Amino acid sequence: MAEDRVTAALDEIRERSNRPIPRAGSLPISHDGVRTLMESAGDVPRLLAALAALLADHRSNGRNLCAGCADVWPCRDYEIISAALLGEENSDV
Ligand SMILES: [Zn+2]
Repeated sequence: MAEDRVTAALDEIRERSNRPIPRAGSLPISHDGVRTLMESAGDVPRLLAALAALLADHRSNGRNLCAGCADVWPCRDYEIISAALLGEENSDV
């Protein structure tokens, strides 16, 4: 089920984002590339929170409707968000 795949993908990303950032080989910590990587990694928790908030709003209400927008479940917003998360954004959503 797509909802299970989305939840699993979010959980996997969240788990990876909680891992300590490994040292970048022989590059000094002050190297621009290393600093950019670390700053990008620091963005992940905020991006996950934003995505989780969207998915918490656009979820099934248990009666075949979206709890957030009241469209038929799965709503278009959920399909677009989950396709992007699962790397299927070019699919026919
Ligand atoms: Zn919705």
